[in-house]
Amino acid sequence: MDFALSEEYTLIRKTARRFAKEVMRPVAEEYDESCQYPYEIVEEAKKLDLIAPSIPEEYGGAGMDFLAAAIVIEELFRGDPGIALAVSARIFGSDMLLDFGSEEQKQKYLVPVAKGEQVMGSAITEPEAGSDVASLKTRAELVGDQYVLNGSKMFITNGSIADFLIVFARTDTKPPERHGGITAFIVETDSPGFIAEPLHKKLGIRAADLAELTFKDVKVPQENIVGKLGMGFYHLMTFFARGRTAVAAQAVGIAQGAFDEALKYAQERRQFGKPIADFQAIQFKLADMATDIEAARLLVYKAACEIAKGGNPAREASMAKLFASRVAREVANEALQIHGGYGFIKEYPVERFYRDAKITELYEGTSEVQRLIIARSLLGKI
Ligand SMILES: Cc1cc2nc3c(=O)[nH]c(=O)nc-3n(C[C@H](O)[C@H](O)[C@H](O)COP(=O)(O)OP(=O)(O)OC[C@H]3O[C@@H](n4cnc5c(N)ncnc54)[C@H](O)[C@@H]3O)c2cc1C
Repeated sequence: MDFALSEEYTLIRKTARRFAKEVMRPVAEEYDESCQYPYEIVEEAKKLDLIAPSIPEEYGGAGMDFLAAAIVIEELFRGDPGIALAVSARIFGSDMLLDFGSEEQKQKYLVPVAKGEQVMGSAITEPEAGSDVASLKTRAELVGDQYVLNGSKMFITNGSIADFLIVFARTDTKPPERHGGITAFIVETDSPGFIAEPLHKKLGIRAADLAELTFKDVKVPQENIVGKLGMGFYHLMTFFARGRTAVAAQAVGIAQGAFDEALKYAQERRQFGKPIADFQAIQFKLADMATDIEAARLLVYKAACEIAKGGNPAREASMAKLFASRVAREVANEALQIHGGYGFIKEYPVERFYRDAKITELYEGTSEVQRLIIARSLLGKI
């Protein structure tokens, strides 16, 4: 693993960093307040190849590797996590198409998403099935030559703006194994019976779209099955390492963004006749924060490099996500503390980082779930 990073990575980092600073940050508060999806910013991101860094060029992406994708994510989230999620999650679920989609599905669905012309999402979670994915109840029944979907999904990123979603539904109610009988379908969101209700009242990442979905007799052609019938759960597990490493990169970006604000503020704010950065208590906070961020970044790069080499590092990805998300929450908390009372009002960006950090401990598997995976891997159970 080369942490000096080649010229290619340095260049993409610079591009993403400048975009985050000059295009995203000035409008971050506005989008956080309004909870509107940042379409104009997405248009700008498209021009710089920031939408789909690691999707192969033959399918419309920028053709870089997963380390480059992690670097882009980190820099965008350092600028503003809400807008960054709106930009970077437009391809959420594309791994499913890349790994298991047919060539026709890739051409029809993956290419427009990678080019930034369409938005996709991945619908797994249900009101009563979160961490326990295998307990999902959304039903897909074969009627004639097509499937009919009924059920509901909860907390779906891009749910109300996506052109299509990869929906995980039950095709067998009594599978021989607990994790069997689930199938992934491409569902076009203009299908009759598909209803999306946006969820606006969020703690953080408010520029990104989130929705609750209902499926009422939604008809889906058989050719929209992604991968193998009944194998959806197992397919999903094969790309969780990528999703979790991506969230860990988000967390590093959030921590770094909050730290940047704290470092600046500590040198500007004067008390007792000197900048608060002169007090050792503040210096020690900054030192600990910077050290934790660097450690988290190395875990992310380690997992990202494994993925770039074609590996599927489940344990490393879970470790990176578990650690980096805690660092994001703790660093954002300390950064706010360094701002004193000013951190508690909207005058400074730090309160947004504080709110935005929390999500990284929740989605793509909570921290408790990451610990279960790490422990099972240590015990040789997966
Ligand atoms: C902003 C946002 C965006 C999201 N985007 C998507 C998306 O695009 N697609 C999608 O499918 N989902 C998405 N999710 C859903 C997310 O992945 C789930 O919220 C998450 O997996 C947790 O599920 P849950 O909320 O049902 O919590 P639960 O599973 O009910 O967990 C509640 C608590 O119990 C703990 N817990 C559960 N089981 C165990 C156990 N065995 N051992 C120890 N502790 C346990 C959990 O860690 C948690 O602390 C999103 C969620 C949010 C908030």
